[in-house]
Amino acid sequence: MDCVFCSVIAGELPSTKVYEDDTVLAFKDIHPQAPVHFLVLPKAHIPNAAAIDAGNSAVVAHIFEVIAQLTGEMGIKEFRVVTNTGESAGQSVFHLHFHVLAGRKLGPDA
Ligand code: 5GP
Ligand code: ZN
Repeated sequence: MDCVFCSVIAGELPSTKVYEDDTVLAFKDIHPQAPVHFLVLPKAHIPNAAAIDAGNSAVVAHIFEVIAQLTGEMGIKEFRVVTNTGESAGQSVFHLHFHVLAGRKLGPDA
């Protein structure tokens, strides 16, 4: 499958990992938009938030547990979680991922 994040998960592309378990991977964004900017994604290929359903949503709850754990470990109390869904919403990689942004004042648009 031609998916950049599946290639990262498979270890075919390098990444700076911040967390990994059986179902979830987190790594630093290659073009950070804030001092803290990492991505958390399911290892299973789900195209985006519009494809979440009763059969695959458990990993989404787990992702939010992981985000709370990681930010807690990093001492980050205030952060933003974003998932772009569709090209016009800014999605460029069509493998579900949650941006975690922190470390600067985040305005309504960024
Ligand atoms: P989207 O635009 O789909 O919401 O987010 C995709 C994000 O993935 C972008 O912020 C982009 O910088 C990041 N990205 C794209 N390709 C790679 C890659 O190969 N490695 C890493 N670490 N980040 C990537
Ligand atoms: Zn994928």
